[in-house]
Amino acid sequence: MEVQAAATIVSTNPATGEVLGELGCSTPEEVQAAVARAKAIQPQWQATPVRERVALLRRFQQRLRERGNEVASLICREAGKPTAEALATEVLVVLDATEFCIRNAERFLREKPLPHANPAMKSKRGRLVREAYGVIGIISPWNYPFSIPAIETLGALVTGNAVVLKPSELTPLVALELQGLFLGAGLDRELMQVVIGEGSVGAALTESAIDKLIFTGSVATGKRVAEAAAGRLLPVVLELGGKDPMIVLDDANLEVASSGALWGAFMNAGQTCLSVERCYVQRSLYEPFLAKCREKIARLRVGNGINSEVEIGPMIHARQLKIVEDQVNDAIQRGARVLAGGQRLSELGPNFYAPTLLADVSNDMRLMQEETFGPVLPVAAFDTDEEAVRWANDSNFGLAASVWTRNRKRGETIATKIKAGTVMLNDMISCFGIAEAPHGGFKQSGIGRTHGELGLQEMVQAKYLDADLLPRMKKVWWFGYGTAYQQQIEGLTDVLFARSWIARLKGGLRSAGLLRRDKF
Ligand code: NDP
Repeated sequence: MEVQAAATIVSTNPATGEVLGELGCSTPEEVQAAVARAKAIQPQWQATPVRERVALLRRFQQRLRERGNEVASLICREAGKPTAEALATEVLVVLDATEFCIRNAERFLREKPLPHANPAMKSKRGRLVREAYGVIGIISPWNYPFSIPAIETLGALVTGNAVVLKPSELTPLVALELQGLFLGAGLDRELMQVVIGEGSVGAALTESAIDKLIFTGSVATGKRVAEAAAGRLLPVVLELGGKDPMIVLDDANLEVASSGALWGAFMNAGQTCLSVERCYVQRSLYEPFLAKCREKIARLRVGNGINSEVEIGPMIHARQLKIVEDQVNDAIQRGARVLAGGQRLSELGPNFYAPTLLADVSNDMRLMQEETFGPVLPVAAFDTDEEAVRWANDSNFGLAASVWTRNRKRGETIATKIKAGTVMLNDMISCFGIAEAPHGGFKQSGIGRTHGELGLQEMVQAKYLDADLLPRMKKVWWFGYGTAYQQQIEGLTDVLFARSWIARLKGGLRSAGLLRRDKF
């Protein structure tokens, strides 16, 4: 039986259940029409001088700075994270990413000469041009409903593309707020459109005439998107899930590492692609580390994030909470020790789960292999650096990892052995807030990069432009073949690549007739 696509979606506050708004869903025809309108206007935008596109970003940045608190408060109400966290991890991050685009777009888009080493090609001038794709489709998740689509949209627009964004059905209002900021900055409304609805609207966008797709979401959906895109060789960037390991070496600062582990595992109620999902602590530090974490968890305040004293908000919905609960229960049944949490906080509402500390976990537990996406810190002890690396790499994911140590050399040696898109020493997650740092994963964590220069690179196609400086001369490699020509080419090969000078000289003599031979 075919499932009927919803006609409307309802946005609700995960902390209170309050309905924030009901929105009509875009039909597949409306998605196609949006892409067609974007396609029609995009060449005009691409022809606009980069300086003018940068000026638009500057106006966007100023509007966001002025409205930052309202944006953060909306993120809090629609996605559940504390307002202060929304300000720090979404608004501020986007302001900085905008600054990166403003400062770097012109340099990045400038044509680059490509000098030719081969003497036979010296009569040509080559250059590398970076050209916009056209219309970039963006499909984004609910956990960073502002920063993810904003950073991708900024990169797409400044390089001359138009954007059609399909936000998560759970956070459409934040996406519309983002669109409002761009329109308020003076952007033509067809250059940044938002299509609303469930997964089927994302599927319609994937099948539409977009020229590239930037998808952020789960591995399961990412694979479906990649299959659909493969049918028409649509280029895609996939930013997928993570199972990030945190390795705490025996020389780490216990106070700092325990605080880092808590923020890394529990911020945004653990619903961060880069969150600490597995923690490996060297045996001599294991029990003291657990004791510190336990003591600090008791001080964390869980509740409605609109209250500025709250540190951990609700999870996004009951389905996500159930996944976390099942993984935790499975781990407990298989021998994990609960040191904190391990249960719902029903008195706060249906979507609240207590920050949970589990000890003595092992890598064969679901909790250590599947993405958890909840406020859970599972900890295991290790003995040697090699063992820590082996466990960290024992995963289908490879988004990011962190190593905690006072010995930078030791930490970097481990970092080089970890299969992940980012490895941080003595911190985690903050790489997302470093505008220059590329973001993306190894293995099933994805394909391609967003953020920084590599993120801009995904928004353009490389075009090689070449001008021949001797337009009145036929080329020596054109038709008019024969025995003499073959010997001349053999000679040329020696001139260019023979190791000995004598062979080069002989080659020179043999190839001498090349320029004079008859060509047609
Ligand atoms: P989903 O994969 O469920 O959804 C992601 C987006 O895809 C949503 O907009 C969703 O719409 C849409 N979608 C669903 N089905 C389809 C389809 N068939 N074709 C096209 N689009 C579709 O992820 P979540 O929203 O639950 O986000 C959480 C996941 O995102 C986690 O796995 C997390 O690790 C990952 N993530 C990765 C990041 C990274 O940078 N690597 C950053 C942040 C999150 P709808 O919501 O309406 O169903």
